[in-house]
Amino acid sequence: MNNKTLVFKIDESNFADTISKAADIIKQGGTVAFPTETVYGLGADALDPVAVRKIFEAKGRPADNPLIVHIASRDSLDIIAKDIPPIAFELMDAFWPGPLTLVLKRTSAVPDITTGGLDTVAVRMPDNPVALALIKVAGTPLAAPSANTSGRPSPTTAEHVISDLSGRIDAVIDGGAVEVGVESTVLDVTSDVPAILRPGGVSLEDIKKYVGEVVIGYTDQAVEEGDVVRSPGMKYTHYSPKTRVVLVEGDGMAVAAKISELIDNYSEKNMRVGLLITDETAEHVSADEMYSLGRRDKPEDAARNLFAGLRYLDERDVDISVSVSVNVNVIIVDGSIKCDGVGVAVLNRLRKAANELIEV
Ligand code: AMP
Ligand code: MG
Repeated sequence: MNNKTLVFKIDESNFADTISKAADIIKQGGTVAFPTETVYGLGADALDPVAVRKIFEAKGRPADNPLIVHIASRDSLDIIAKDIPPIAFELMDAFWPGPLTLVLKRTSAVPDITTGGLDTVAVRMPDNPVALALIKVAGTPLAAPSANTSGRPSPTTAEHVISDLSGRIDAVIDGGAVEVGVESTVLDVTSDVPAILRPGGVSLEDIKKYVGEVVIGYTDQAVEEGDVVRSPGMKYTHYSPKTRVVLVEGDGMAVAAKISELIDNYSEKNMRVGLLITDETAEHVSADEMYSLGRRDKPEDAARNLFAGLRYLDERDVDISVSVSVNVNVIIVDGSIKCDGVGVAVLNRLRKAANELIEV
């Protein structure tokens, strides 16, 4: 594949020139990673099957997992979607540009590879000046899944993209850290009752202001009944570090007590523990490596920190300064984050990343 990935650091002084260079790569059928408000996306011309194939190859993404098509203006809608219901336009008025993806009926202009062979297409208008300018200047809708290796935590900085995809994509535009930190909410509006297929940056509460009835069409992870639940979780794993992830969910004090007990148990086995932890729980426990999710009642901070935290803790594997391996053998995640608003998406991602879920 590509040997060298160009890195464009974008700022006000070079904005137009950088966008023009990146858009040229897209026009030539190449791949460019770029910031959106949710996570970094890996973009290619959504209408060019050869270009879209490069996205699947670079990410190692299964061919049946469809891509979201990003547009910069509603004028492009008719090219890719048809029979758009009135509720879709109301939702666009309310949430675009922004982290809401709408699943619509597709036109024949959208190649099969982009939609994973489905007769629908997922569409969104991102709320980021770099993303909007790139789409506009490229002059075509961009298929853009998250710019990570499939299965890894999503990228919220250009460094995350480079760490996963350097040498596998043509370029990345470095526009700094993203604002939201979790992916868009995916809402299917092709049936009578809209269905949320993925929780994300727009909350269920916000969608309900516009849609009378809505179906929850996703699952987090199989959870059995009982006080303490241990779920194997492997086959649901997603957004995953290489290191084992144990998620502890429940009331704040109970979570802190459980994490403290787990740290003791792991320490007895000489295992090094990394903690992805809320500020409140951090007052009660400590471990070899810690990364803050922010306050329990601020799920928007947890959204911004969660993927960077998983990646940070996953990388604490070798201490070069003393040239010995000091692996973090297990990452314990504090799941006491408030589960409303974007907190629903945060807990969804954490459950999918976890190898083991403990409810207290
Ligand atoms: P990503 O772009 O990596 O954040 O993933 C895109 C998400 O949108 C995945 O969960 C896809 O399964 C979903 N998606 C994309 N297109 C469709 C579609 N036509 N119907 C249903 N889900 C879709
Ligand atoms: Mg993804």
